[in-house]
Amino acid sequence: MDRAMIYVSLNNPRLGKPRPLPQVVLTRPDDPISRPLRQVVLTRLATIALLAFALLACSKPAEKPASNMAAAREAKKERAELRSNIKKIEPFFKPMGKPLSNDWLETHHEPGQTFEEYLDADPVKPTKERQKIYVLPLGKFNANQQKIIDVTAEYLKVFYDLPVEELTAKPLVAVHPNVRQNKLTKTRQIKTGHILNDILKPQLPNDAAALIAFTVDDLYPNETMSYLFGQASLEERVGVWSLARMDDNTDQRNFLIRTLKIAAHETGHMFSMRHCTKYECLMSGTNHLQETDRRPIDACPECTAKICWLSDVDQAERYKKLADFCRKNGLVKEADEFVKKAAAVNAEARTK
Ligand SMILES: [Zn+2]
Ligand SMILES: [Zn+2]
Repeated sequence: MDRAMIYVSLNNPRLGKPRPLPQVVLTRPDDPISRPLRQVVLTRLATIALLAFALLACSKPAEKPASNMAAAREAKKERAELRSNIKKIEPFFKPMGKPLSNDWLETHHEPGQTFEEYLDADPVKPTKERQKIYVLPLGKFNANQQKIIDVTAEYLKVFYDLPVEELTAKPLVAVHPNVRQNKLTKTRQIKTGHILNDILKPQLPNDAAALIAFTVDDLYPNETMSYLFGQASLEERVGVWSLARMDDNTDQRNFLIRTLKIAAHETGHMFSMRHCTKYECLMSGTNHLQETDRRPIDACPECTAKICWLSDVDQAERYKKLADFCRKNGLVKEADEFVKKAAAVNAEARTK
């Protein structure tokens, strides 16, 4: 069997040289060749947080004008609310248990990232000038695949409370040396570097927080890898995800849920969110599709605090919108969960 990888690199100009984020290799449990390669791929972990600490330690706080002081007070209040909401929605999530055989955390020892650690790491945040997520369908899609992309674009809009614009589909043109035939599946594959550098970067809008391309073509990053699900570059604000491996003869509902999960997870990486190890969470690393299927469509309390902080959205209102989205798209159980979370956030603070 093949193996797959999601690769996200974080290149923050404030931190000097480009640093890769954890690279996610998704493998099938019965893949006989996956383990050694997975270990190789996962040896490079980012030291972004440490560098951010160092930079912060070197800088002296400047005198703040009155208006900035008011803004700082407001920000402090907002963070206190987000922290209090963490407790309120905790009961809806399972703590991360012992990993099953071939699960992500069986072989990858990651530290996780709380809300506080995220804030301390000086994460990339959408700005007024750059807050739109662009979604670009790349290549030919059948009606069903196009619908999945439309729905995913809508989900990203609600999930991150950011404007999302779906661009008109463009053909995916690639010739040697940017295409190859996969040795195992005999399918055509496109090199991700070609899509990111030659296709996406030249058309990146100035106001883009991210430009995400979807394709049904299978992807590969280099000759050492059999395939991957997607790749993104934060510094360049571009990413590409493939639907080719999502279908997997699964039913339509699961195809949609997998695509929603992968899009929301990868977009989270583009906003500096690291893998979650505290709960079974949308932002937890996943090693194979079965593990992806076990994960919730939603982010855990810690990761949700990060998402709400990114856009300053009201958390209960966001849950209500997510419930509406799920109901509209036939995800009834998920809709009910979001309604309950909205109610929990709106409830008076519980006594300890
Ligand atoms: Zn990931
Ligand atoms: Zn989480």
